[in-house]
Amino acid sequence: MCPANARSKSRISRPPSFALSFFLALACLRPLWPETAEPQLKLPVRTYNYADVPSHILLNAEQHAAEIFRRADIDLAWIDCPVSRSEIEKFPVCTQLTGDARALTLKILPESMAAGYALPITNLGVTIQHHASFVFYQRVQLLSNDKGLSEPVVLGHIIAHELGHLLLGEGSHSLKGIMMEDLRSRYFRQAERGTLLTFSTEQAQRMQARLQEQMVAKKPY
Ligand SMILES: [Zn+2]
Repeated sequence: MCPANARSKSRISRPPSFALSFFLALACLRPLWPETAEPQLKLPVRTYNYADVPSHILLNAEQHAAEIFRRADIDLAWIDCPVSRSEIEKFPVCTQLTGDARALTLKILPESMAAGYALPITNLGVTIQHHASFVFYQRVQLLSNDKGLSEPVVLGHIIAHELGHLLLGEGSHSLKGIMMEDLRSRYFRQAERGTLLTFSTEQAQRMQARLQEQMVAKKPY
């Protein structure tokens, strides 16, 4: 039997059709990075997979994004959410969190929806403050295929970058780390070898302070 993965508890409410393969996959997952103390700040992320990203790719990408946030002492908990009215009953945890200001919202979009934002094709995501982060999956796939990169690594970094925008607010790009405006292929390649892009100490402190404030104020991020 495989040892338990400490991060497996951080995903909630896969739809039943994915349940078996998901739990089989989890059963043999080993931590991708050395285990350290669990962060104290918990942050739910309502995740809407409109792009129908395969579950093994999404899970792996979420592990990368979660690790980037864990290094900023923030523990992400992924909560699957319905992408149509007919699925609402399958995702009770997400439904319970609707309107809960403590949770972030992440929407992974197919190109048919991404095109509506009229952004250059090089934009892999966008964040609307106090609302949600959006990641454009087909663009992540194109970049990954074109440059021979790991799709979960690229997807995980783009998710972390966009969620970072939600927590850090406007003007949150930086010259180094995960909040660089122009995330280039070489950084993803370094991440494939284990050197993830991370938040700076100052960015981590700002996010932690915002989370702590928000826990008291219960206002949207
Ligand atoms: Zn950005």
